[in-house]
Parts: sequence; structure tokens; C-alpha cells
Amino acid sequence: MRFASLGSGSRGNATLIQAGDTILMVDCGFSIAETELRLARCGVEPASLAAILVTHEHSDHASGVMRFAARHGIPVRCTAGTRQACLKLGFAAAEPFDSHAKLVIGEIEVTPVTVPHDAREPVQFLFGGAHRFGLLTDVGSVTPHIKRMFSGCAALLLECNHDRDMLEDGPYPPSLKQRVGGPLGHLSNAQAADLLRALDKQWLQHLVAAHLSEKNNKPELARMALAEAMDCDEEWVGIADQEYGLEWREIS
Ligand SMILES: [Zn+2]
Ligand SMILES: [Zn+2]
Repeated sequence: MRFASLGSGSRGNATLIQAGDTILMVDCGFSIAETELRLARCGVEPASLAAILVTHEHSDHASGVMRFAARHGIPVRCTAGTRQACLKLGFAAAEPFDSHAKLVIGEIEVTPVTVPHDAREPVQFLFGGAHRFGLLTDVGSVTPHIKRMFSGCAALLLECNHDRDMLEDGPYPPSLKQRVGGPLGHLSNAQAADLLRALDKQWLQHLVAAHLSEKNNKPELARMALAEAMDCDEEWVGIADQEYGLEWREIS
């Protein structure tokens, strides 16, 4: 199995997972042309995508999904709550899945994980059986369920949205600061590091910080926080960049 990011952050998200001949995309917050460009960078033909999975209705994840799916004839899967919240974006054509049950798409086993985030029925995902890839962004706070599900992953794309001090001193209006830093908003570097400390990390081959705020965080701060929790070199921690994403990473 391998994974890549087409871009991560408040200006758009999309993640790729491949096992055998099956390639899935999670979310699409980019225009059709931008998505095609970013897929080409990863060597992926749009029509080769088996499905687009959607985590939740926020525009940085859902805005580009249906246009892209319709253009290339790709099935879309999401929870019933996300589908309902995205009807205006054309999600009537999306097929709902049970947020509490595994699904299998081609050669990839997909496990949705419910998360506390300010959306209707948001989920994040685990992919694969034995050597799992965990995708975890847009999390307001860490729950026992999240700790249990994301323990023992072989690869982790983990939200490091903001540095608490930068958010506090930064340009956002008070209401937005409260939302982002609140229990239904986004994980700070410190919260992500705390989660990492609580997880079984013995199988972890890849750790990538994701959904970094361009105004309230810096890659070096996210790296520092995760490396300290991991007790590893800062260079070992990857960054899913807003502009350039993350190149394919192989899970062995
Ligand atoms: Zn987001
Ligand atoms: Zn969100």
C-alpha cells in the first residue's frame, strides 16, 4: 500500500491511497483543473480512481468532489450526514456508508472513524488490514475511540493545525480563534503530540503532519512537536504541504 497528498490545509485537501490496482481519493477541495494537475504530479489518471471518499462537508474537503467525480465518472461515498449537508453541491448522487462499519472498495479495506468536528457526521479513515494507514485531520479533540482506532498504524497523516500561541496572537477574529482552538475545531501541534504519545507506535514507518494553518503554524513547529513525542529526528517527520502535497510514500 502507498499514500500521497495532493495538498493539505484550509485552501484544499485531497489524499490518495493505493493498494494493488485500486486507487482511492479522500476529499477534493480543489477545482477540476487543479485536481487534474496535482494527480498528474502523482502519475495518476483521474479515470483510474475507484472512488472518492468524503470526510465531511467543509469546503476545503467537499467543494470540488462532485464536479470532478461527474467529469471522470467516479463513484462518491460519504456518510448520510455529509451527503445531506452537501445536497446543494450535488451529493444526491453520492452513496452513503455506515460510519460504524468497515467497507471494502476493490483491494482496500476502509474503516471510518467518527470524530468530534463541527460538521453533520464527520469521519476520518483507516486503510488496510494489517499495516494500516491512518488519516486524521479536522479533529476538535482526541477521544478514547480515536486513541483506540489509530493505535498501531504503519503510517499516519496527522493534523497539526496550529501552534497555540500563534493562533492566540494571530490575525483571526476572536470568534474564529475560538472555533479553531475549540473542542470541535482543529488539533494544535501540542494536541497532536499528546495523541501520538498515547498511541502504540511500534509499527509506525511514516509520520506526516497535515492540515497546517498558513497563518497560525509553521512546518518547523509541527515537526518539532511531533519529533519530540516520537523521540525521533525532526527530519523524519514529513509535511503534507498546501501547495505541493506529499509525494507517494510506500508502506511495507
Ligand atoms: Zn479541513
Ligand atoms: Zn473541517
